[in-house]
Amino acid sequence: MSAECVFCRIASGEIPAERVYEDDGVIAIRDINPQAPVHLLLIPRRHIASLAGVTPADRDLLGALMLLAAALAEREGVRGRGFRLVMNSGAEGGQTVPHLHLHLLGGRAMGWPPG
Ligand code: 5GP
Ligand code: ZN
Repeated sequence: MSAECVFCRIASGEIPAERVYEDDGVIAIRDINPQAPVHLLLIPRRHIASLAGVTPADRDLLGALMLLAAALAEREGVRGRGFRLVMNSGAEGGQTVPHLHLHLLGGRAMGWPPG
């Protein structure tokens, strides 16, 4: 838990968010500035700054995030039609909140290349 970290504060309940899922290790919320009709953020409760900081000890957590993304895509009605997962890492990766999180985007056709 980092007192200055917005996602740690959301995970602890200190800052409100629209939660769509939670378990002991992960919460999922709706993005405050959605970039698609479905835009969820899957956030580990434990503070990990970015994918650049993970170790083999994080294998189960990272796997759980992927499996949860597929399950939430189903619940949000986009599993069959298609969706996109994004994990920005670091400044050039476009990461703005330095607490690891997975974006789940869906409900519209995605473009490529990403910006
Ligand atoms: P990043 O740019 O780090 O990959 O993504 C951060 C995401 O967090 C952005 O899409 C931004 O809209 C979202 N975000 C930032 N602050 C908050 C907040 O307080 N609540 C929610 N629900 N989303 C947030
Ligand atoms: Zn944090």
